[in-house]
Amino acid sequence: MDSIEKRNIMMENYRNPKNKGLINDNSYLQADMNNSSCIDEVKVMMKVENNIVKDVKFTGEACAICTSSASVMTELLKDKSIMEVKSLMENFTKMIKHEDYDERDLDKALAFDEIYKQPNRIVCALLPWQATEKIIKTLDKDA
Ligand code: ZN
Repeated sequence: MDSIEKRNIMMENYRNPKNKGLINDNSYLQADMNNSSCIDEVKVMMKVENNIVKDVKFTGEACAICTSSASVMTELLKDKSIMEVKSLMENFTKMIKHEDYDERDLDKALAFDEIYKQPNRIVCALLPWQATEKIIKTLDKDA
């Protein structure tokens, strides 16, 4: 993916975020995350049935990186199994921290592969995924 394509993915997902909006349905699991080094406040809502992510939404006030990362994440996680979600989460986190990672299935999330060059934006990109991680942890507790 070249840098123009990366920027386009980020701008498109910032201007027209996918799956954005609060959902009033208590079958959705929820988690909030704040970023003390930026304006970001993100809530992720996820409907899980039979170990499959049936729906993901997010809401909140966030910068361009955080909003676009959340938007791309929601698209990526829909219809994935919890095991696939964990693997994507792990690989996205490694990519953001500039560690070795498996780029398989990361798709548009690969647009964030140079965020490590802006250390103060790392948390922005990771924040929605950290909310997802919180949700996944509550699932493990129930299992
Ligand atoms: Zn931010």
